[in-house]
Amino acid sequence: TETAERHEFGAEVGRLLDLVVHALYSEREIFLRELVANAADAVDRRRFEALTDASLMLPAEAKVRVVPDKAARTLTISDPGTGMSKAELTQHLGTIARSGTLAFAKSLADAPAADKPNLIGQFGVGFYSAFMVAERVEVTSRRVGTEEAWLWASEGRGDYTLAPAERAEAGTDIVLHMKADAEEFLEPMRLQTIIRKWADHITIPITVTQDGVEHPANEGTALWRKSKSEVTEEASLEFYRHLGNIFDKPWSTLHWRAEGALEFSALLFIPGAKPFQAVEGDRESKVRLHVRRMFITEEAALLPPWLRFVQGVVDTEDLPLNVSREMLQATPVLARIRRAVTGKVMSELKFRAKDAEDYTKFWSVFGPVLKEGVWEDAEHRQELAGLLRFRSSAVEGWTSLAEYVARMKPGQEAIHILLGDNAATLATSPQMEGFRAKGVEVLLLTDQIDAFWPEQLERFDDKPIRSITQGSVDLSAVEGTAPEGEAADLARLLPLLKEALAKEVSEVRATDRLVDSAVVLAATESGPDLQMQRLMRRAGR
Ligand code: ADP
Repeated sequence: TETAERHEFGAEVGRLLDLVVHALYSEREIFLRELVANAADAVDRRRFEALTDASLMLPAEAKVRVVPDKAARTLTISDPGTGMSKAELTQHLGTIARSGTLAFAKSLADAPAADKPNLIGQFGVGFYSAFMVAERVEVTSRRVGTEEAWLWASEGRGDYTLAPAERAEAGTDIVLHMKADAEEFLEPMRLQTIIRKWADHITIPITVTQDGVEHPANEGTALWRKSKSEVTEEASLEFYRHLGNIFDKPWSTLHWRAEGALEFSALLFIPGAKPFQAVEGDRESKVRLHVRRMFITEEAALLPPWLRFVQGVVDTEDLPLNVSREMLQATPVLARIRRAVTGKVMSELKFRAKDAEDYTKFWSVFGPVLKEGVWEDAEHRQELAGLLRFRSSAVEGWTSLAEYVARMKPGQEAIHILLGDNAATLATSPQMEGFRAKGVEVLLLTDQIDAFWPEQLERFDDKPIRSITQGSVDLSAVEGTAPEGEAADLARLLPLLKEALAKEVSEVRATDRLVDSAVVLAATESGPDLQMQRLMRRAGR
């Protein structure tokens, strides 16, 4: 129109548009995430402004509308948020506020492909992603508290126009005139899917219009942001099932909000049964990271691998809406959140371990995963040792290292363990004879990981942990009847055996640990334990 003013983009914006459109082509769907996030933010900001000026209050049933029109080949995103004045349109959609194109271009060039889409948000240039799918973008906006509306329009080349416009209410309409190859984004189903994937937990309702009817596209509950007392058990259970595709009840639900130096809300679940995606696959924790309700990634490794069975969401205020994978690894904020979240899960486990029967339900499902922590996580090793439970030669059910130590015989120096595939077989193993005769308890370890962690833990309560198949065992200090040894008779036999078995064994020794059996295989003190050797053979090493 004649009243339209023509403006050049800042020199940088032109280049930036080019970059965004070309570098991110394969991830085009994120334009919707960015525009919906902007719309939801504008609504949040208006709600905030209304706190001090009631005349700015949001209309009842405020929502973000996504309206595809196949005939006109347009997609419109409307929100009743703050809207933008003429000056704000110029400032926010005509220049780059936060950082220069150069820095953005450099980051784009350096970032792994998967990170590129996140850079858009990080550099505060999300709006321009609209030009990935649109050949022309029109923004009609009316600042809340004012009467006038403005139309901003651009084809994403060197310039944009600004003209007076009409809008009945405060808020913003963004009309995308879609490129011919972007018509998929006019399919209501496709739009629903994208919103569910990226924006399911924005609290303001988002609708996608199909045949004139508005269909809700997000659940919008952000359960974790509510206070504990506001969340019903049903809602919590529903969310848990939605998250993990699990249909049991969680063994534990952890819902809390951290405030102060670190601000986040968390809703975590420890499942009551092994999830469908068995914990054996990917070792990384899949706890979802949200920033201000917006889903960011499930690959932020919010918990260590040995707590990967924990499901849920952590939602923080302390990160920018879009963070790159590199930033996720480097930012101290996330490191602090990780520590806090891990600490919370550990306290829960310690607390629940006090009820043996209750804890057994957890242990029998996830015990082997927790043991990985003893093996690989020096920081949590000692803490985790207290959470371990074992089958034992002396008691029914499960027992802990502390309970074992309390039962140790006078003169017994070590915690004795025996590794194998099956506790029942282990209990009757000839390796056990000497221990049984003296009433010395042996812990029976049957998980694959048991071949690894004891070596790392070394000691518990200052008592060394020793495999009874490894090296010589000296039970002479333990009170009780020792098996009768006839060492003199063996003096001639041992060298003969050693010669005959020269290819099979490195040494033949007399022992006092056998009662009924004549011989037993033992591993050398310095080499791997017998069960480890079996595992290595199975793995073809
Ligand atoms: P970012 O949102 O990361 O700051 P964008 O390029 O997406 O970067 O948006 C730039 C700015 O434009 C926003 O910060 C906001 O001030 C303004 N803006 C964008 N969309 C809207 C909207 N729907 N309503 C009000 N303001 C908006």
